[in-house]
Amino acid sequence: MKTDPRPNASEDRDESSHIPVLQDRAITLGVSGSIAVYKALILASRLTQAGAQVDVVMTRAATELVRPLAFQALTHRPVVHDLWEAGSEIAMDHVATAHRSSALLVAPATADRIAQLALGLAGDALGTTALATRAPLLLAPAMEPNMWAHPATQGHVETLLQRGARFVGPEEGRMASGKMGRGRMAEPERIIDALRHVLGLGVEGGLRGRRVLVGTGPTREALDPVRFLSNHASGSIGFALARAARDRGASVTLVTGPARFDSPEGVETIRVETALEMQAALHSRLRECDALIMSAAVGDYRATEISESKLKKSEGPMRLELVRNPDILLGLDEELRSMTPTERPIRVGFAAETESLVANARDKLRRKGLDLVVANTVPAAFGAGLHQVTLVSADGEAELQPMYKPQVAERILDRVERLLERD
Ligand code: C5P
Repeated sequence: MKTDPRPNASEDRDESSHIPVLQDRAITLGVSGSIAVYKALILASRLTQAGAQVDVVMTRAATELVRPLAFQALTHRPVVHDLWEAGSEIAMDHVATAHRSSALLVAPATADRIAQLALGLAGDALGTTALATRAPLLLAPAMEPNMWAHPATQGHVETLLQRGARFVGPEEGRMASGKMGRGRMAEPERIIDALRHVLGLGVEGGLRGRRVLVGTGPTREALDPVRFLSNHASGSIGFALARAARDRGASVTLVTGPARFDSPEGVETIRVETALEMQAALHSRLRECDALIMSAAVGDYRATEISESKLKKSEGPMRLELVRNPDILLGLDEELRSMTPTERPIRVGFAAETESLVANARDKLRRKGLDLVVANTVPAAFGAGLHQVTLVSADGEAELQPMYKPQVAERILDRVERLLERD
């Protein structure tokens, strides 16, 4: 049986476990009383699995929907819900959680809680925590669409935005009531992505102040109105790189061919289809970047002519005439020559090979004027699960242990950081 080289759900799961920017960080999860609280349980679980220390603070309304014990079991930590409960941490030191927190995430944030936060009301544990912390505030609203659209709510949202708070969602879709509209709480994965972005904004060192440009995904070349030439690349390594670079404080632009992933929070994402579009998008950003990481699987050929009508089938063989697409990295290299060495960004390319992995990667390093080549074998390069890559640079080569793509992304960025320091 052939293994399916396309991405599958397990690839998404890899993303949620062990996220460096969340590692050992104290995250306060404020939970207010919306039925979306069931997603807050998933959030608490994922954040804990990702390595964060999650302190849950529940409002009284939230405890009517879910017992604090559920959060306690998921986070392995006491849950704060009653400011007046004798013997609890909050009763003894009502700002302890607030002071150790790296971020305050309120999810779900109801209309009532948003109003209280905007006004600075401190009548309960979440209110006191929000006032006492200096950590950034991220809110994931959840409410009935008319409540969200109401000028009163929008006014409070504006107040919070002006104070530097950030929002993720609400999203449009089907509400618990069965009605459609904007008011659904964002999905846990998106909220975690937004939290990573918020934490990344506070990172010192790392890639702070650096601009990183990432090219990823397959390209797609139309043959006629319904058919195209493409490849199995999913873009997952590029999305992982963009997120990880953002988490390290970089401003990131991601140029991606057709990929099924949502745009990362806080990353400028440019979606393209063809090799020529990808080339144009990368060219337009090249002069402003400190590092270019080109992980896209660019189609080497496109149709000489795109048929305006659907190509008809016949009994005999069919001939397609193809022309070469430009090699984007090679093309950029020419432009780079016009820059001074200090202006030139660090360049990272990929090499997916079936044989002579290191020799071919080394050839690419030289021919395409790269600082680093990430070499891996096909078809493994396109699948989910563990990946084994070799990093090839002028200094030599390092064969890494098999690891998931988000971890591969971290190792690549470690190298990029070192190369940038050397500059
Ligand atoms: O030559 P090969 O396609 O194996 O080189 C791979 C590297 O070159 C990758 O980094 C890929 O993104 C880049 N590439 C490109 N333009 C192409 C083909 C590949 O920039 N047309």
